[in-house]
Amino acid sequence: MRFADIIGNSNAVDALRRLVDSDKIPHALLLSGPSGVGKMMLARAFVAYLNCENRTPDGDACGKCPACRQIAADNFPDLHYIYPIAANKSGGKLLSTDYAKEWKRFLSESPYMDYPYWVLLMNSGTTQPIINRYEADDMLIKASLSNYSSRFKVFLIWLPEKMNVQAANRLLKVIEEPHEDTIFLCVSNDPASILPTIFSRLQRISLYRPSDVEIADFLKKRGVSEHNSEICATLAEGSLLKALQLASEEGEMSEFSEIFRNIMRTAFSRKVSELKGWSDKLADMGREKSQRLLDYFARMIRENFIANLCLPPLNVMTPDEVTFSSKFAPFINVANVEEMLSDIDAAKRDISRNANSKLVWFDYLIHLMILIRKKPK
Ligand SMILES: [Zn+2]
Repeated sequence: MRFADIIGNSNAVDALRRLVDSDKIPHALLLSGPSGVGKMMLARAFVAYLNCENRTPDGDACGKCPACRQIAADNFPDLHYIYPIAANKSGGKLLSTDYAKEWKRFLSESPYMDYPYWVLLMNSGTTQPIINRYEADDMLIKASLSNYSSRFKVFLIWLPEKMNVQAANRLLKVIEEPHEDTIFLCVSNDPASILPTIFSRLQRISLYRPSDVEIADFLKKRGVSEHNSEICATLAEGSLLKALQLASEEGEMSEFSEIFRNIMRTAFSRKVSELKGWSDKLADMGREKSQRLLDYFARMIRENFIANLCLPPLNVMTPDEVTFSSKFAPFINVANVEEMLSDIDAAKRDISRNANSKLVWFDYLIHLMILIRKKPK
């Protein structure tokens, strides 16, 4: 974990580097910004730089010394992670450390911190994960103990906005009267929801969405083709997390694209029995995949409407999609585009509510068959 791994956000990197170089490190720091931009990566790079035994001349951690290696492997004894966890149904005390195994897996599999994936790993069902008061008590105890090996003891708090009031009040005491060389480093997606008493005591550094060019470069370095890198970067809206997810769905995207083309042709030629066959096949996909397919349909409807308006610079399509669009776009027009998109929303809603998928798809396809022939007056 090094500053060199951070995509974009050079101002935030410089600010953190300066704090260490000038030895003016505040006791309580906040890295905030949209989800998926690499805040946790930067927090870990900062902890590595702070503790590295052999910093590079250009101001980065070496990545090789014992401290750097331990931080990368998440077993540095003076770095304590605090994160939202599911409440214990039996009411007993639970701490972040009780989920240490899941957390380690999460950090290595999802360094851009996919929150739904964290909830899934904890298997918390419908309970809302929080940072509870036991956690704050545990932090107070750990803060009072002497450090293992390094000058600084760091509490890295992921999503402080999920701290409940009791936890926040307890934590406030330590932040107000900090032990020497203890750092509270908060990483937040939603700083406006942090309790104001805590928020006002944090020195703030903001991160921003990397540009499309930076995201495309990032994907290319990971072996994604140039063309797909650019498409995924545009669709990712500044989130490295989303860009990686889109790139990993490359295979699914070509499957969806083929289904879309087939269904549009079948609907246009009004082959009802074939549409019935499609509704059975699509229902077998399962709920999650159906939702992603409908998202894909919505995107294609929008792209083809834009193409029909002759605004190609605004289009984001693969070469296959462009070829199909050259003939298909005229059928998506002002007379039907709105209804087509609201049909997709309705189908998504019904599928998520566990309605009979075959019926939902068949309804959707029959209505599509009517809409696709609608022309502007
Ligand atoms: Zn090092």
